[in-house]
Amino acid sequence: MIGTRLAGRYEILERVGGGGMALVYKAHDTLLHRNVAVKVLRQQYVHDEEFVRRFRREAQSAASLSHSNVVSVYDVGQEGETHFIVMEYVEGCNLNDIIKEQAPLQVDRAVHIATQICDALGSAHANGIIHRDIKPHNILIGKNGRIKVTDFGIARAATSSSITQTGSVIGSVHYFSPEHAKGVSAGEKSDLYSLGIVLYQMLTGKLPFLGESPISVALKHLQEDVEEPRAVNPMIPQSVENIILKAMRKSPEERYSTAGEMLRDLETCLSPQRLNEPKWTYSSDGDDEEATRVMPALRVDGQSGAGDELRASADAPVWRNGKYEDPEEEKRSNPWIKPIIWFAVLLVMLGGAWYGVKALQEILIIPEVTVPDVTGWPLEDAKERLEEVGLVVAQPIAEEPSRDVALNHVIRQDKKDPDTAKVNTTIRLVVSTGIEMVTIPPLEGKTKSEAVTALTDLGIPELNIETKEEFDDRPAGEVIEQFPSANDSVDPMTDSVTLKISKGPDTVPMPDLIGKTVDEAEALLEKEGLTLKKENIVEEPAYYPAGKVYEQFPYKPGNPVKPPGEEIMIYVSTGLPDEARVTTYKVTVGPRQEGAESEIRIVVSDAMGDRKEAAKRKVKQQETFSFDVVTSPSKNAVIEVFQDDVKNNHITWTYQQAGEAGGNASSGETAEETQPEHQPEGEQQSDDEITVPGGL
Ligand code: ATP
Ligand code: MG
Repeated sequence: MIGTRLAGRYEILERVGGGGMALVYKAHDTLLHRNVAVKVLRQQYVHDEEFVRRFRREAQSAASLSHSNVVSVYDVGQEGETHFIVMEYVEGCNLNDIIKEQAPLQVDRAVHIATQICDALGSAHANGIIHRDIKPHNILIGKNGRIKVTDFGIARAATSSSITQTGSVIGSVHYFSPEHAKGVSAGEKSDLYSLGIVLYQMLTGKLPFLGESPISVALKHLQEDVEEPRAVNPMIPQSVENIILKAMRKSPEERYSTAGEMLRDLETCLSPQRLNEPKWTYSSDGDDEEATRVMPALRVDGQSGAGDELRASADAPVWRNGKYEDPEEEKRSNPWIKPIIWFAVLLVMLGGAWYGVKALQEILIIPEVTVPDVTGWPLEDAKERLEEVGLVVAQPIAEEPSRDVALNHVIRQDKKDPDTAKVNTTIRLVVSTGIEMVTIPPLEGKTKSEAVTALTDLGIPELNIETKEEFDDRPAGEVIEQFPSANDSVDPMTDSVTLKISKGPDTVPMPDLIGKTVDEAEALLEKEGLTLKKENIVEEPAYYPAGKVYEQFPYKPGNPVKPPGEEIMIYVSTGLPDEARVTTYKVTVGPRQEGAESEIRIVVSDAMGDRKEAAKRKVKQQETFSFDVVTSPSKNAVIEVFQDDVKNNHITWTYQQAGEAGGNASSGETAEETQPEHQPEGEQQSDDEITVPGGL
C-alpha cells in the first residue's frame, strides 16, 4: 500500500494505525497539497456488500459535519477492491495512548477533554448523527492539544455484520450503553453514556466494568453498580463525580437529556461554588431501585467468548421506573387499580369543567363604561385617562399632520362620550404630528415661471412668492437665489418664499459717435448712462472734418458696455495734418448725346474716405463740376465720372501731382479737367488750369 496513489491523488506515505475494520494511513493529497489520513477497509470485509454500502453511507453522512472537535471527512472512494475514506490528518496521538500512559489524569484536563468531546457530540446530534462508538481510540489529540473525535457513525456499519466477530470491535463493549449492549437501537443518550465511561476511565485510570468475556461486560453494564469514581480517586470533586454518575445511569431517561445539557454541566463543574456540591442522586418515587433490580435475560448466540453476539431476548426484563421489571410481574398486579385510576381522572375532569364555566361567566358579563373624550389631550394623558376607566388604546397609534392640534395631541378617537364601551375594548386614537411642512426644492437655474409652478405645486400660494429682479451675468429670467434655501422646511400656509431673478448683464450698447461733435457725442452717451471724461477726449489732426469724432475706443458702435463706462475715449479731428494736399478739382462734362439730358455723378475716393459722392446733377450741355480732393503721402485720390450711371472717366490724382500743382492743406490749388463727350474709360492725368485755392 505504501507508495501507491489512490484515486490518482492520495499518495500513501505511512501507516499510522489500524483497528478492527480498517487500516489508517498518512497520505499526501497531491491536488490540494496537504496531508490527509486515509482509512482503508480491511480486505476481509470488501466482499460483504451490505457492510461496504453502510461504510460508504456513514462516511458520507459524517462528511456533512463541520466542527472544530470533529475530524473532517473529505472524500469517500473505491479503487478496485480498496474502499477508503479520506479525512483530516491529526498529527498527535489518541486518548487511549494517553490513558494507558498517564491515567488518572488531572481533573481539569480530563474535564477539558470531556467538554470538547461533548461539544462535538452536541453538534453531531443536532445534525441527526449518532456516534455509536465513543471510546478513547476514536478520540484524537492534536499537537496543539485540541481534541478531535473521529469515526462518526462508522460503527453502525458493523452492527449487522460479521465484523462483530473480531476481537477489537467487541472491545468496544466496555463503552457500550446498557441499551446498546441489549441490541436496542442506540440514540443520543448512548453516546453520553459512553462519554461518561471515558471520563470515568480518564479520572480513575480503570474501566468501570471489566469481565472475562464481552457478555459478562455487557451484563455488568445492565446490572451492576459502578464503583463510585471518588472511591477510586478521592481527588475527583463531587461535582465531577456527579456528571459521571448522571451520564452513566442505566436508564436513558435518567441521563442528561441532551449533549448540550451535559456540556453546560461540564463547563461549570469546576467553578469553586460547585466543587463541593451535594452528591447527585436520581429522584424516583419508586422503591429502592438498586435493590430490586432483576437480571436481564440475555440470549447468547454462539458458544463462546470473543465470537459472541449480543441480542435482546423477546421477553427480556424492561427498564421502567428506575428498575428492570419482569413483564410477568405486571400481569399479577391488583385488579382494582385500574378502575380507581379512572375514577380519579373523571373527578379531576369534572372539577376542571366547573372551574371553566365560572371563568367563562366572568368573561361574558363585562361592565360597560362611558368612553372619556380625550380629543385635544396630550397622548400620554389620554392613554392614562382611558386606561383608568378600563379601556385599552389600540396599537399602533395612527398619526396625521394637523394645523389645529398640537404635536402629539389627540386629533380624534373612534368612540367618545356619550358612547359607551365594554371594559377592555380598544379605542383608536389619531394623534397629531403637527403642521405638515413642505421641503423647498432647489430652484436656482430654473426660469421664474418654472420655479413659481414648483412652489405652487407644493401648496405655497402665489401670493406668498415674492420675486426681486437684479442685474446678473446669468441669463435674464433665471432664478439666481432663493430664500429659504433648498431642502429647508416651511409651513406652506404661512411662510413666504423670495426668488431673486436675473435681469441679465448690466450693459448698454455703445452709441455710434463717429462724425459727431463732442457735444453731440456727450449727449448720446449720457442718454445711456455713460460718461465721457474730459481727459479721454483726444484732439488731433486727422483726415476727417475738423471738430468731428473720427475714432471711438475701446467700444465700437453696438458693443455692450457697463455704465458708467469709465474707459470710453473719443478722438476728435482738429483738421487735416500738415502733410495733406488739398486740390480744388474741376471737371467739365456734358450729356451722353448732344441735345439730350444726362445725369452726371462724380464719386471721389481720397484720404478723407472712399467713394464719396462729390457732385450729382442733370445737364443738357457741357458744364463744369468743382470739388475738393485730399491726398496724403499714403493715399492718392481717384475720381470717377458717371453719365447716366455709365462710367465715363476714371482719373487718378496722386499726392505727387497735388504737390506739383501746389496744393497742400493750408493752400489748396485747383485742377481742371474737360471731359470729351465720348471719352473712353482710361486713366488720365490732369495738369489743367489751377484757378483758386481750394480747401475744406
Ligand atoms: P476501531 O476499529 O474500533 O475504530 P480504532 O479506532 O483504534 O478501532 P481506527 O479507527 O482504524 O481504529 O484507527 C486506528 C488508529 O489510527 C487510531 O487509533 C488513531 O491513532 C489513528 N488515526 C485514525 N484516524 C486518524 C486521523 N484522522 N489522523 C491521524 N491518525 C488517525
Ligand atoms: Mg477508530
